[in-house]
Amino acid sequence: MTASTQPPVLTRETRVACDGRSPADPLGHPKIFLSLADGETQCPYCSRTFRKQTETRNNK
Ligand SMILES: [Zn+2]
Repeated sequence: MTASTQPPVLTRETRVACDGRSPADPLGHPKIFLSLADGETQCPYCSRTFRKQTETRNNK
């Protein structure tokens, strides 16, 4: 079983917490915080990709 085809997690936060928990892996890993300053990052524990979701609506 491989879990390398997980879709990226979209978020609007600049920092996300990942503990690796999912229905397939309820134990996960130690909770860590990841910075999305570059718009996208990958969790070193579970290889889950987090992508910053930018607003599509423009402020006028
Ligand atoms: Zn993780």
